[in-house]
Amino acid sequence: MVRSKFLKVRCECGNEQIIFNKATLKVKCLKCNKLIAEPTGGKAKILAEVIESYE
Ligand SMILES: [Zn+2]
Repeated sequence: MVRSKFLKVRCECGNEQIIFNKATLKVKCLKCNKLIAEPTGGKAKILAEVIESYE
């Protein structure tokens, strides 16, 4: 079972940001506005590269 946690992701533009793994809204890159996570009815689908995760 996957626990809720935060993920550090890197967008293809190079921007890094922390997102919640259980996002209920679409998350966009703060720099280039590309979609980096979208909700899938529970766990977020991560569309960017995950570089770190935090419990
Ligand atoms: Zn970006």
